[in-house]
Amino acid sequence: MIRFSGGIIMTADDNPSKTGRCLCGAVGYEILGPVQMTAICHCRNCQRQSGTAYSVIAGILRSDYRQTGETRIFHDTGDSGRRVERHFCGGCGSPILSIIEPLPEMLFIKAGTLDDSTELQPAVEVYCDSAMPYVPLVPGTQKFPKSNV
Ligand SMILES: [Zn+2]
Ligand SMILES: [Zn+2]
Repeated sequence: MIRFSGGIIMTADDNPSKTGRCLCGAVGYEILGPVQMTAICHCRNCQRQSGTAYSVIAGILRSDYRQTGETRIFHDTGDSGRRVERHFCGGCGSPILSIIEPLPEMLFIKAGTLDDSTELQPAVEVYCDSAMPYVPLVPGTQKFPKSNV
């Protein structure tokens, strides 16, 4: 099901429980509720943290998240001075999730760490201004030059 709410396309699936982990397995997690939104972030800081062209992030409710193992936290600053907590595995360096100041009730999971991310369909692309020139934008997404929050 897809419904449109407040400029964000919300998706809800029938079997919402999802699991994921970092590369070394020291950090694992389970998501007990539906993914609220899937987005691609082309910001420079995601490019640096991931070491690649962009992040794919799955937005979930913080209350739906259970984690095993400890993440380390890098306290980042977004383009408008907003705080971003970037959680990563201290053992292997995998980025796990981010928490952004304007949406403290949400967690933004790095979708590449999910065990199965094949159902995710990005609905939004942010920071398109800094997208790598060789990366094609996804047809049908809502595109924002900077952030949408
Ligand atoms: Zn790890
Ligand atoms: Zn980003």
